Amino acid sequence: MSLQRMHVLIPIDEEAIQNGALEVKRRLNKELFKHRVEEEVKVLETGPIGISGKGVVLIVYPDRVYYYNVKPNDIKCIVEEHILKGKVCTEVENSTDIERKKKVIDYENIGLTRKQPRVVLDKCCLVNTFNIVEVIARGGYAALEKILEEKISPEAVIEEIKKSGLRGRGGAGFPTGLKWEFTRKASGDEKFVICNADEGEPGTYKDRLILEGDPHKLIEAMIIAGYAVGAEKGYIYVRGEYELSIKRLSKAIEDAKNMNLLGENILETGLNFDLEVKKGAGAYVCGEETALIESLEGKRGQPRIKPPYPVTNGLWQKPTVVNNVETLANVPAIILRGADWYRSLGTNKSPGTKVFTVLGDVEYPGLIEVEMGTPLREIINAYGGGVKNGKKFKAALVGGAAGVFLPEKLLNVRMDFENLKEHTAVLGSGAILVMNEDASIVEMLFSILKFFAHESCGQCSPCRIGTRHLLELIYKIKTGEGEPEDLDKMLHIAETMRNLSLCPLGQSVIMPVASAINNFKEDFIEKINNKNNMKEVSYA
Ligand code: SF4
Repeated sequence: MSLQRMHVLIPIDEEAIQNGALEVKRRLNKELFKHRVEEEVKVLETGPIGISGKGVVLIVYPDRVYYYNVKPNDIKCIVEEHILKGKVCTEVENSTDIERKKKVIDYENIGLTRKQPRVVLDKCCLVNTFNIVEVIARGGYAALEKILEEKISPEAVIEEIKKSGLRGRGGAGFPTGLKWEFTRKASGDEKFVICNADEGEPGTYKDRLILEGDPHKLIEAMIIAGYAVGAEKGYIYVRGEYELSIKRLSKAIEDAKNMNLLGENILETGLNFDLEVKKGAGAYVCGEETALIESLEGKRGQPRIKPPYPVTNGLWQKPTVVNNVETLANVPAIILRGADWYRSLGTNKSPGTKVFTVLGDVEYPGLIEVEMGTPLREIINAYGGGVKNGKKFKAALVGGAAGVFLPEKLLNVRMDFENLKEHTAVLGSGAILVMNEDASIVEMLFSILKFFAHESCGQCSPCRIGTRHLLELIYKIKTGEGEPEDLDKMLHIAETMRNLSLCPLGQSVIMPVASAINNFKEDFIEKINNKNNMKEVSYA
């Protein structure tokens, strides 16, 4: 076996596949073979890199050169010039596409990886996560091994998670260690661990990238959670459209079983834990933990009345811990490096890091992982590359569809649970949608309310009727038929929904409605005063 002098990494996710990554990989292998260097140059298919909108990306090591927007025809130059002669291909001859002429991305200077304190995404794009041996060589399953080898008790594991201050990354921010403790202490001979991977928030794909990029980290975290709470069975409830995630998770589970890291008598220690992947049917409300549990039980996915909570009455009324993908992905690092290390990141009350999906009118849309408490301005400018095409910033919708429209004067807000709460905002799904000066807040709110009206499960009338009524009012405004009093009506309806709805879907509609109307009132007044902008559009 020969030593490879070069590695070429191809990050592959759904977006890369759509951009032709598989054909690029095929051409690369063919070209290497043609020049008889296939033994010296290793081509690695890795998890996603986190950059969006830059087509197929190739990373050449040890030079650490990033090629983006790579097309199959670029491979000849990359192999013949760079791989064979060591000259970086900066342009493609005869190309009329300006963007494609700049083939090398200055990846480190735009801060998308080097400056990030990656805890959750540490292996994404740097390792072939589909090869369990390689994952283990890069520290995979080391936290589990530490617990089993050092015989750390379940109570001590829970204590470490509590001490770390880890809080749920699915939106609510509930302390994870406390949730585990409640489940451990709940009476019942059978308990469950559920990973909520039903990521349905528009514009959010952080969980998908973790699932596609490092499925073994999630599996390891779930085994640890099972050990801590006393569960022998876990379910990963994945959004049905996430086909690649499901495929990679299923393969990772199979590999872990073959290595005795899952199943019965794990690593000959007497520990039993098994995992199953379940496909969601596409209802946004199933992201709510009790609706998810109902769906797992084979019923219609509708939220339950709480209390009782899942920690005592979860799946089949048995004690169940439900954690989000990102929350769990923090666990192995906390066990390995300790709660004190984890607390050195982020803020006192919101320790650790946070993964954000930055999208919209920014230069570099994609995923970033930063310390909790990083200012929004830094996320948009230093990591997202600022507002693209030299336009001015208008607003950022922070936290997903159920998030808050923040104006420029709030760009210095620190992105953590407490600081956002001071501005009636939330971390939510971790999505940050940047809008430039040309964006219409009315149109954006219309899209959001249309989404909520569509996703309301209809179980409780404040939400079922309220979402529809809000949609009718915003439609009136957007088509030039609105009245000034419609704004008060909208605020009143959303407030009523907050107070009377059964689950967070109905309760959180107030967030985008109130922030849009209060922070960008002039957009609404302009539409209301301009009666000539009526459009024949349907919202049904
Ligand atoms: Fe269903 Fe909306 Fe009521 Fe939640 S608030 S239970 S989504 S109708």
